[in-house]
Amino acid sequence: MLRLRYRCTNCGEHNYFRSFQTSRLDLEMAKGRTQEKQCKNCQHTEMVDVNDMKAVTSPTRTLVTLITALVLTAVLGYFLIYRGIEVGSGTYSIISVGLMALPMSGYVFLAAQERQSIRLFNKVKR
Ligand SMILES: [Zn+2]
Repeated sequence: MLRLRYRCTNCGEHNYFRSFQTSRLDLEMAKGRTQEKQCKNCQHTEMVDVNDMKAVTSPTRTLVTLITALVLTAVLGYFLIYRGIEVGSGTYSIISVGLMALPMSGYVFLAAQERQSIRLFNKVKR
């Protein structure tokens, strides 16, 4: 899922919408070369060409993913370190730290994946 943006030709405001299609080709095949869009600012309706749509990062998704990763790290940390101190084993602690790094690794991976999708979408024009 990508966050796409186009600029209204009437008022110049940016409008955002979501798309399950992650390339201009897929978007064109699914919804046509142009899509009818209404500006949220001035209500102007126009046909927007796929080439005039640009993929941008989604701050909401980034934030949700980051918060999820932090919560998971905290929960994992609570159980693993608490238990680790109880057990008092060095190996257990190393595994705990490794496990605790997983949610943030997931976050970094997803963020990199989003950047890659955005770059690809914007690179390939129709
Ligand atoms: Zn407008």
